[in-house]
Amino acid sequence: MISPDIIEEVKRLADPVVLIGARVRLWKSGIAYAGSCPFHEERQASFRVYPKDKHFVCYGCGASGDIFQFFQRADGKAFPTVVRELAASLGIVIPPERPATAQEQRERGERASLLAACEAAMSHWQRNLWGSEGEKAREYLAERRVTDEAARAFRLGFARPDWHDLERALGAAKIAHAVQHAAGVITSREVPGKGVRYHDRFRDRVVFPIEDIQGRVTGFGARTLGAEPEAKYLNGPETPLFKKSRVLFGLRQARDVIRSTGRALLVEGYFDVIALHQAGFTSAVAACGTTLSREQVEQLAGAGCMELVLLFDGDEGGALAAARAARVLLQANLSATVARVPTSSHGGQSDPDVLVARSGRRGMEEVLAAAKPLTEFLIDDAVQRHADGIGVQAPVEHKLAVLRAVMPFVLATPDGLPRATFERAVARRLGIDIGPLRQELQRAARTERPGSHP
Ligand SMILES: [Zn+2]
Repeated sequence: MISPDIIEEVKRLADPVVLIGARVRLWKSGIAYAGSCPFHEERQASFRVYPKDKHFVCYGCGASGDIFQFFQRADGKAFPTVVRELAASLGIVIPPERPATAQEQRERGERASLLAACEAAMSHWQRNLWGSEGEKAREYLAERRVTDEAARAFRLGFARPDWHDLERALGAAKIAHAVQHAAGVITSREVPGKGVRYHDRFRDRVVFPIEDIQGRVTGFGARTLGAEPEAKYLNGPETPLFKKSRVLFGLRQARDVIRSTGRALLVEGYFDVIALHQAGFTSAVAACGTTLSREQVEQLAGAGCMELVLLFDGDEGGALAAARAARVLLQANLSATVARVPTSSHGGQSDPDVLVARSGRRGMEEVLAAAKPLTEFLIDDAVQRHADGIGVQAPVEHKLAVLRAVMPFVLATPDGLPRATFERAVARRLGIDIGPLRQELQRAARTERPGSHP
């Protein structure tokens, strides 16, 4: 039996417009979304999805029900299967239905103790930040224009410049070294003749908790306060709870806004997320030091994101980051646009964080309003690089270079309308015929190894 709590949670988080919208083309119609019924043949659009009560009705054939009943009927699957699949896409963990094996019970117990250790560590670092020893860290946050309110909302903390501060605190809370170590908050080393010695992983750093969509702390990122030439940012290690490619910083805080607007903003850094939330752009999230992954895109889609705005730096690095994210977005067929933060004439910095500080909400709104569709960005970027920005008038060799640069992205786009639209846009921009372009693409598709990168 799946517990009623979990079924409720799935229902609460599931967005029927997004989920049903992936099967049936829906458009807004009053308080509902309308489309053609998938359960009977029709030319009209008698099918409605009501996002508020989370149910569907067909006024033609009378089919109706909640989100679970939709998928039971559409896919011919049993109720528990549908709940499980939806839960998985929303990142909700359901214990298996049959009695758990000893191994599973052990794993579940281990997960619970790791979650408890992460929570205890974060609480300790939060106490440090707001206590007398946290002054330096609070000053740093103020310098980065993080308000106390935001620091509390994002549960930021401070790891003292001490080798054993956290280790001692967790020890006092009866959390074993092995658990602390498995949770990634302490590290160990072998001391000859003395055995294993443990010490804190994060020292003299501001700590950012990385939460899952349900708000449980599963991992950490940390920014140094020290002057020594060490890593500016340090992520916790991968643990049974924490997989870098599966989490998004800020998703818990952004969740409800993403669901109600269907839109999310993807930025690069922790401070970018916080600066945007402070300025009222509360759908901002960040991939924690990784290229956007398929799992992260699934999380966003599961959270109700129908359009992702990539908000990256205006420099070379930002263009590269956008191109890296592009493939997975095109494959997932998630609508995306690219907004670039212009490089300032003085200082050359171009992070969203800096832009908000410089030009405020208005400045950011202008940047977002100038966002280009992802495919257009990719074409423009390639034309800029390989054809001096001139496109149609460029020499043939340059056009071919542009074509080679955009080809992997075109090939990553699902067949049908999305691919055809992309192909036509490339042809138009370069002033070439669509026929030869398709031939060239087909040749490339045959030679390209699956999964290879541009
Ligand atoms: Zn119907």
